Amino acid sequence: MLKSTKELYKFKYNISDRVLELYEQALLDVESQFRIYDEIREYNQAKVLSALQEERISDTHFTNSSGYGYGDIGRDALDKVYARVFNAEAALVRPHFVNGTHAIGTALFGNLRPKDTMLSICGTPYDTLHGVIGINGDENIGSLREYGVNYKQLELIDGKVDFKRVEEELLKDKSIKLVHIQRSTGYGWRSSFLISEIEQMCKFIKKIREDVIIFVDNCYGEFIDVTEPTDVGADLVAGSLIKNIGGGIAPTGGYIAGREEYVNQAAFRLTVPGIGGECGSTFGVMRLLFQGLFLAPHIAMEAVKTAVFTARLMELAGFEVLPKFDDKRSDIIQAIKFNHKDNLINFCKGIQKGSPVDSFVECEPWDMPGYNDQVIMAAGAFIQGSSIELSADAPIRDPYIAYLQGGLTFDHGKLGVLIALSKIVR
Ligand SMILES: *Cc1c(COP(=O)(O)O)cnc(C)c1O
Repeated sequence: MLKSTKELYKFKYNISDRVLELYEQALLDVESQFRIYDEIREYNQAKVLSALQEERISDTHFTNSSGYGYGDIGRDALDKVYARVFNAEAALVRPHFVNGTHAIGTALFGNLRPKDTMLSICGTPYDTLHGVIGINGDENIGSLREYGVNYKQLELIDGKVDFKRVEEELLKDKSIKLVHIQRSTGYGWRSSFLISEIEQMCKFIKKIREDVIIFVDNCYGEFIDVTEPTDVGADLVAGSLIKNIGGGIAPTGGYIAGREEYVNQAAFRLTVPGIGGECGSTFGVMRLLFQGLFLAPHIAMEAVKTAVFTARLMELAGFEVLPKFDDKRSDIIQAIKFNHKDNLINFCKGIQKGSPVDSFVECEPWDMPGYNDQVIMAAGAFIQGSSIELSADAPIRDPYIAYLQGGLTFDHGKLGVLIALSKIVR
């Protein structure tokens, strides 16, 4: 029997002495950062707890509705709990959203009309939204563009919003109905936007045009800070339940939260006008959505700790990382630049090898729906594609950047990364 963790790492997982040295150094270096995130976690746990208590959640809310799902009290109560957590008028939390793209697309389609313009002020939106907007080359069937919704995009300057151009566009183009902000980096080499930066954007936009809808793609951002975009002026946010806010427990789904008028418009798009959020049976998943939300402040921080540790470890091993381990974060993503195709692929294969599920399969780059380049995805998750579980993915394009995120427990997160690093450091 192997008696110490270190022996286990060494002999069971073949982690070299060199990698173990880096590991011990990295752990020491990140300690003070962890204290900051522990405080955020504590605050958010109390925030979620009070939302559950104020809505008087009881086990009668863990209903199992069928058919139309009229009067599903669990579904309706979870909407209210989310609205409290987001300090918003309303929320729409549904297992019927097939993913985050669907929730975001529903918010956009529900609130934009022909001849309206959507303005992205954070450069190119996340890859899977290109088909929704209609900027996907020839494959734009059913997109906003096909329905006559225009799209404009302002590039970031050194990773920051170009406020001068935002002002010009808002003053010049009265057809702009919605401004799109993406909190997380997605597949970009930039920092995520802090809540303080999102606040600055919201204030700036509202001063120029009170009537414009500020939409924030909040994927990967939930519970990374003590406030959310809706606390600081965003009108509408959306995200996935198999990322932070599902707590690793929600089996599927998405959410939209914000001003009631805009959430209702989205609900009309999710189902149909006149029905909105009042129908939709929940097949017995409600307890998992409640329990996932309850765990989410903790789980999100396990993922952040994994990211912070990875940043330091990979930096010590000689790789360029973004964000750095001591940068303030607003999402759970850790980007690592490999500048080398094989290193990138081997790192992802290592993450796969260290997974609790499908550890025996080799992941390979492949063509994925919604993405333009081939993508490699390492994900040995209990919930398929869940990226609050330890995962790494990368579009296969120069400079070969891997995006690592998740980790339901920091203990697993760090071991997974040690295994991955061992694949490329000899
Ligand atoms: C994950 C993500 C989405 C939605 O992706 P899905 O895979 O459809 O859930 C959108 N925007 C960002 C920034 C994301 O990280």
